[in-house]
Amino acid sequence: MPRRVTILGSTGSIGENTIDLIARDPEGFDIVALTGGRNVARLAQQAKALRAGIAVTAHEELYAPLKQALAGTGIEAAAGADAIADAAMRPADWVMSAIVGIAGLVPGLRALEQGATLALANKETLVAAGALVLRQTRAHGATLLPVDSEHSAVFQVLTGEDIAAVERIVITASGGPFRTWSREALANATLDQASVHPNWNMGRRITIDCASLFNKALEIIETKEFFQFDPNRIEVLIHPQSLIHAMVGFCDGALMAHVGPADMRHAIGYALHWPDRVHVPVERLDLARIGSMSFEAPDPERFPALRLAREVMAAGGLAGAAFNAAKEAALDLFVTGRIGFLRMTSLVEDVLSEQSGAPGFTTAELTLDNVLAMDRQARAAAFRLAG
Ligand code: NAD
Ligand code: MG
Repeated sequence: MPRRVTILGSTGSIGENTIDLIARDPEGFDIVALTGGRNVARLAQQAKALRAGIAVTAHEELYAPLKQALAGTGIEAAAGADAIADAAMRPADWVMSAIVGIAGLVPGLRALEQGATLALANKETLVAAGALVLRQTRAHGATLLPVDSEHSAVFQVLTGEDIAAVERIVITASGGPFRTWSREALANATLDQASVHPNWNMGRRITIDCASLFNKALEIIETKEFFQFDPNRIEVLIHPQSLIHAMVGFCDGALMAHVGPADMRHAIGYALHWPDRVHVPVERLDLARIGSMSFEAPDPERFPALRLAREVMAAGGLAGAAFNAAKEAALDLFVTGRIGFLRMTSLVEDVLSEQSGAPGFTTAELTLDNVLAMDRQARAAAFRLAG
C-alpha cells in the first residue's frame, strides 16, 4: 500500500529535498496535497509530476494562475491560508511541515488533529507553541518526528536509550559566515554577506538566522520542547565543519555523536522511513580525507541571541511566541534594509522586555488564540520600536 503523504511548503528548500526522495520511489507514495507560496509554476509542476490530489498556494490572488496551470490534469487547486489548513486536514499517513515561520503552526496542528505522523522542519512551531503542539500530538494519538538536523541527530542517538540517563545534550552550530568577525564588523554586515552559509544550502530566512545565531537560539528552545529536557543541560558548541550535528552525554560519561554530511535529505529520509532505515542517497563521509574537525565555545558578546533564548525558556508561557514573532519581524526589517545586522538582536530584546509586562506573559496556558495574539502583538511592537 502506498503511503499517503502531504508536503506543506513543498516549493521550499526542505520541500524540494523531500520531493527528491519521494520521486525516487513513485510506487511507494500517494501524494495527498502539496502547498506553496508565490512560485505557483513550480508548485503546479510538482503536483503534475507526483500526481498530487490538490495543490494549494498561500496567496489568494494566485488562485487563477495555479488553476490554469493545472487545467485538464484533474488535480484540484486552492488558495489562501485556510485552504492550506484544510489541505493539512485531508487524511494522510505522513505530513512534512516545511512552511517557514509562524504560518506553519495552524497547518501543523491540523495534521496532528487527523492523527498523522508530522515530520517537523518548522521549528518556529515548537518555539512559539511547544506545549500546545505536544498536547495536540498526545490528544490525537499522532506522532511528531524531528527534521531539523540537530534534533534528528539527538533523536537517533536516543533511540533505545533512557532519557533519564542523559546528562546533557550538545547541539552544534557552524558559527555562520560571521563566526570570526569583530562586533564592529558585524555592525556593518550586509544582507548579501548574511545570506551565504558556509556549509548548508537552505532557504534565505534560516540562512540569515544562522549568521545571527538566531537559528541556534530557536533550536535550543526546540530541543527543550521536543525532548522535554532541562534547558540548563542543553549546550551549544561551535563546530565550523558541520559534520557532527549533535551529541548526547550520558551519566556514565559516554558522549555519543551523530556524524553526517550537511545534506538535509538524511534527516528527511530518516523521518520519512522511521522507524526503519533505508538507503538515502547522501554523500558518504571520507573522514581520512576530511582530516580534522574543530570546536569552539560560542561568543555571547558578539552573538547575544543565545542568551535571549535562555531568558525566553526561563520565562516560559508566551515568551516563546513573542521571541519568534519579534525575530521574524526583525529579520523582515533587516532584509528590507530598515535596520542593521546587530539591531536584529537588540530589537528582539527590546520587544521581549516591553512585552514581558503583558498579562499572562509567563503564566498563560498555551492556546492557539493566545499564541497567535502574542505573535501579532510582538510583531507590531518590533515594527513600532524599530522606528
Ligand atoms: P524556504 O523559504 O525555502 O521554503 C518555505 C516554504 O514555505 C515554501 O514552500 C514557501 O512557499 C512556503 N511559505 C512561505 N511563506 C508561507 C506562508 N505565509 N504560508 C504558507 N506557505 C508559505 O524555507 P526552508 O529553508 O525550506 O525552511 C522551511 C522550514 O524548515 C523553516 O521553518 C526552517 O527553519 C526549517 N529548516 C530548514 C532547513 C533547511 O535546510 N532549509 C533545515 C532545518 C530546518
Ligand atoms: Mg538545524
